[in-house]
Amino acid sequence: MADVEEKETVIVGGGPGGYVAAIRASELGQKVTLIEKGTLGGVCLNVGCVPSKALINAGHRLQEANDASVFGITTQPATIDFAKTQEWKQTKVVDRMTSGVTMLLKKHKVEVIQGEAFLDNDSQLRVMSVGPKQFMDNGGGATFKFKNLILATGSRPVEIPNFKFDGRVIDSTGALSLPEVPKELVVIGGGYIGTELAGAYANLGAHVTILEGTPSILPNFEKDMISVVVKKLKKKGVDVITSAMAKKSVQDDKSGTITYEVDGKETTLTADYCLVSVGRRPNTDNFGLEMTSVKLDDHGLVEVDEQGRTSVNNIFAIGDIVAGPALAHKAFFEGKTAAGAIAGNKTANDWVGVPAVCFADPELATVGMTAAQAKDEGLEVDTAKFPFAGNARAVSLDQPDGFVRLVYTKDGGNLVGAQVIGPEASDLIAELSLAVNGGMNVEDIALTIHPHPTLSEPIQEAADVALGYPTHI
Ligand code: FAD
Repeated sequence: MADVEEKETVIVGGGPGGYVAAIRASELGQKVTLIEKGTLGGVCLNVGCVPSKALINAGHRLQEANDASVFGITTQPATIDFAKTQEWKQTKVVDRMTSGVTMLLKKHKVEVIQGEAFLDNDSQLRVMSVGPKQFMDNGGGATFKFKNLILATGSRPVEIPNFKFDGRVIDSTGALSLPEVPKELVVIGGGYIGTELAGAYANLGAHVTILEGTPSILPNFEKDMISVVVKKLKKKGVDVITSAMAKKSVQDDKSGTITYEVDGKETTLTADYCLVSVGRRPNTDNFGLEMTSVKLDDHGLVEVDEQGRTSVNNIFAIGDIVAGPALAHKAFFEGKTAAGAIAGNKTANDWVGVPAVCFADPELATVGMTAAQAKDEGLEVDTAKFPFAGNARAVSLDQPDGFVRLVYTKDGGNLVGAQVIGPEASDLIAELSLAVNGGMNVEDIALTIHPHPTLSEPIQEAADVALGYPTHI
């Protein structure tokens, strides 16, 4: 029987939630042990946010090179050496960022254990060694008693019947490491991950078909935002087929035949790869959580309070395994909150101002409430919109599609939400998050001088629209 070691704060999972919690807990004076069975950085850095944005960027560069004639620039059709793209993405982006996490954890004196954690009960876990680089020298694992535990085990892709992941039918991880740009790519699921990757591969030269089961792709965004993206996807040659039920895929070494049904009519498509991107499930079912008194909800998510505390006082849960948007910046924040709570600080998660971004073309971003959500909450609100077509910077970039919309209370003009679709929406939403979180009103925004000519001006101009004194429309 192995010795039982006492640990102060143990964190299971080294993704955005776990590694940020580890750093903050260490900064707050705790002795921290982080257990990771895969690679530090989790889904986000290794097979999620970061590599997907790298491929999206490569796709934009190729597409921009080929579309440069509008600026009077003539190019040969630009070509891509995708093996080089993939090597750049892995070595210069992913490896660089994950080794940065390793360095940060070292700097903060976090003990990192490579291994898979299994919970024994509310105060003890075992770590089993994994993979060839086994860390645990006794091979049979080590047992730790913990004073505090933060669970940050993340999520994994959902599989659907008759679409077994096998090399031709792939999940998002497979889609990010393809050895070649497919000639034909079918994407099942037009959520934010499916739509981002569909756009990236279309820009990289694939013919892409999106099969979406509901009447619209990107169902979490508003209709007037979605229509801008759909128009652009169609311009890239992407077929967007909605209300389409994917039935089965039959594949050989080289391709697959995908059958789907719309209005009772079956159709087949042949594609070199079929990306199934229909959602993710929380990793709460495979590491002994049932041995503890931690409660799960009907979706398999861990029930937590506003500090991330579970039904067991000294166990916290953060990131994709708890309710709310499955996004890295939410996991970062929850990690800091949980570490602070363990230190006895009065931290709390507040989800009103969490931005959500989809890196489609153009980018979509939201924060706070839409007008419909605000009305559902019983608020009386108005909206004000300013189009990028009226912004000199967007026009000079040849990216005039999209708009900024502010949602504010009729009484007092308090900003309760905002939506941006257009160039650099992912960065622009940060100002609006600050305004929503800071309880600002449209006058505060209108009286803040924005630099000219920049993509930020439509935010100020939308506030002018709200006040009834628009300038550039
Ligand atoms: P994860 O990142 O999933 O990390 C969990 C870690 O726990 C993993 O490293 C895993 O190996 C480890 N683990 C699990 N079980 C155990 C165990 N028993 N023992 C030891 N270790 C264990 N979010 C954004 O905000 N912006 C984006 O642009 C974005 N793009 C995305 C693109 C794609 C293709 C995907 C798939 C996701 C994207 N996301 C994005 C979502 C984001 O990646 C997740 O929300 C985020 O990674 C969740 O962080 P986490 O810490 O909860 O879990």
